[in-house]
Amino acid sequence: MSWHIARDLCLRCGACVSVCPVLALELEERGIINHHEKCVLCGICEKVCPSGAIRVEKK
Ligand code: SF4
Ligand code: SF4
Repeated sequence: MSWHIARDLCLRCGACVSVCPVLALELEERGIINHHEKCVLCGICEKVCPSGAIRVEKK
């Protein structure tokens, strides 16, 4: 199980931060960071990302 971001694709729109139900995401100077201890890999952020920068894999 994993969460990945392609930083070069990220537009810094903040959509993923807004929808995360457990507030795992944060927009920092270097881009989006995931506080993995909170992330439940629900995949919502992946669905709302306009640029396809986020990939969530559940196994
Ligand atoms: S997969 Fe779900 S819990 Fe994890 S960062 Fe994305 S929206 Fe938040
Ligand atoms: S939704 Fe996608 S493009 Fe927008 S800040 Fe998050 S990762 Fe970047």
